[in-house]
Amino acid sequence: MSIDERVAAVRATIADACARSGRTPSDVTLIAISKTHPAAAVFQAAQAGVQHFGENRVEEAETKLPSVRALTSDALTWHMVGHLQSRKARDALLLFDMIHSVDTLKLAEKLSRAASEREKRIDVLLEINISGEDSKYGISAAGWERDAQVRLAVFNSMREIAMLPGLRVRGLMTMAPIVSTMETARPVFTGLRAFRDAAQSELGLALPDLSMGMTDDFPVAVEEGATMVRVGRAIFGERQSV
Ligand SMILES: *Cc1c(COP(=O)(O)O)cnc(C)c1O
Repeated sequence: MSIDERVAAVRATIADACARSGRTPSDVTLIAISKTHPAAAVFQAAQAGVQHFGENRVEEAETKLPSVRALTSDALTWHMVGHLQSRKARDALLLFDMIHSVDTLKLAEKLSRAASEREKRIDVLLEINISGEDSKYGISAAGWERDAQVRLAVFNSMREIAMLPGLRVRGLMTMAPIVSTMETARPVFTGLRAFRDAAQSELGLALPDLSMGMTDDFPVAVEEGATMVRVGRAIFGERQSV
């Protein structure tokens, strides 16, 4: 299949998931994750109508984004979805329109400072570890429903980050564990949405965006309320090794 056909298939799958759950496809933003794939592949996806792209490494984006700009004058929106070291915060700010992976106060402060120096605010999502997997980045919220200590810690972190002047906190992001069937991932997505609802009322903060769902599980994530899905392999094919 061509990238064009793959994009159409992913869009149809999103539309089906929306139909099953009474949602509107225009409320779900498709972010094509182009990591390891060349600028030419991004160009093809852009030709197929994709407007949002994501990368997981600053270094790769530093070379790829200018190459993409040389191929198309389309105004594309770039999302940083991978773990971001705080010493790369300034570089990331210059490359990306939204950072999905804000997972520590330290990183949030660096981003905010860099943005404030440029008299701008950067859109961010807070990465939440809802499943409690040790290997995951993200602010830990595992067990928040039962454990008042966890709730206190996570809401305090969120409150501090939300007050930073250079950030505009738009919502939450999570990564589901890698599982063999997408049904197994559903509780993570349901859990992120429930956590979001609780955080909104606890903090008095609007958190409209939920970034959740990848190639193996995005239909279920859409059913559970994702407003952004991060799809790589279903659009670009298997990743080239780097
Ligand atoms: C690579 C990546 C994706 C896309 O993964 P696929 O399984 O290829 O769809 C989504 N989110 C993050 C954070 C990633 O690093």
